Amino acid sequence: MPNKTIPYGKQSIDQSDIDAVVEVLKSDFITTGPKIPEFEKAVCDFTGAKFAVAVSSGTAALHCAMFAAGIKAGDEVIVTPMTFAASSNAILYCGGTPVFADVLPGSLLIDPSEVKKKISSRTKAIVAVDYAGQPCDYDALKEICLEHKLLLISDACHSLGGAYKGRNVGTLADMTVLSFHPVKHITTGEGGMILTDNADLATKMRMFRGHGISTDYRQREEKGSWFYEMVDLGYNYRITDFQCALGISQLKKLPAWIRRRQEIAGEYDVAFKNNPSIIPIEKSSDVSHAYHLYVIKLEKTDRNKAFTTLRNNGIGVNVHYIPVHLHPYYRKRFGTSEGLCPVAEDAFRKIVSLPMYPKLQDTEIRKVIDEVKSLK
Ligand SMILES: *Cc1c(COP(=O)(O)O)cnc(C)c1O
Repeated sequence: MPNKTIPYGKQSIDQSDIDAVVEVLKSDFITTGPKIPEFEKAVCDFTGAKFAVAVSSGTAALHCAMFAAGIKAGDEVIVTPMTFAASSNAILYCGGTPVFADVLPGSLLIDPSEVKKKISSRTKAIVAVDYAGQPCDYDALKEICLEHKLLLISDACHSLGGAYKGRNVGTLADMTVLSFHPVKHITTGEGGMILTDNADLATKMRMFRGHGISTDYRQREEKGSWFYEMVDLGYNYRITDFQCALGISQLKKLPAWIRRRQEIAGEYDVAFKNNPSIIPIEKSSDVSHAYHLYVIKLEKTDRNKAFTTLRNNGIGVNVHYIPVHLHPYYRKRFGTSEGLCPVAEDAFRKIVSLPMYPKLQDTEIRKVIDEVKSLK
């Protein structure tokens, strides 16, 4: 193994981020303090969403959204298989049943015509995942939701900073879920957020984040009151003030980072153009792609062999994702198996995610391209 592997994703932390965190650590509030609403407002300003609820992870954010959507035992939620398991697990946390709708072969985004086929009298919501950073076809999904009275939840853990037909990610669904894990666009270590324009949904999620209690510690302090009531079964999904300070500092750099990600994608696009064995995932012309991932399909080489070769040559490639319905837990619990979503399953056998993060150097991009092109 070479001593330095180029990873597939990596955070960028500079002195201003560190200073922002240290400042909060020296202040009176390290949790439930003023940095939480400040971070929420900053993300609202950036995306154009009306309300934001910051939580301890993207997974917690998905759980909050599923709770606010009112998902319970007997309800079905339609979800893409081409995602991290958390997108679907959140349905299970609320007792709901995931129903997998296959993806489009070019973009690997959920296929609206497959969604239509999966709707039943028990369907309550759709979880659309902006795979790799490309927003789904929200106009088509919205239309289906309006017709069948479903809630649309956007898992935008890959697409913060992206847009669909000129509208920002964060404003495209009833609720939009973000993650601030270090490989995502901005980081708080661990962290997540839900964006919505619906005040009722926001209130429900705020309560859910704090044990289902109707006021938080600061609201009680301001009123000089000890009184609180637990009105729902919630969790402790709070995020700390120093994490939010990091998020606020990171967000300032996001536009430049998105531009750099798009620039790197442009280099890869040019390098693999007209190459019959390396097919990048298709990008629609009416989106601004946030490029969390740059995914290629290997059409003529064995993916698993290619993966090992690239790793041995210092390229930290990855595979996103094993289709959720093929995980042992899902197979056992729901009896799902091969053949349920053939497009996702076929893509899964061919895909590789190449290094993609703002600090990736030009020499590293060259090396990735050379290694990928020389695969046999
Ligand atoms: C990262 C991710 C999540 C989970 O986020 P965490 O912050 O790691 O809990 C959910 N869905 C998708 C698509 C993700 O990429």
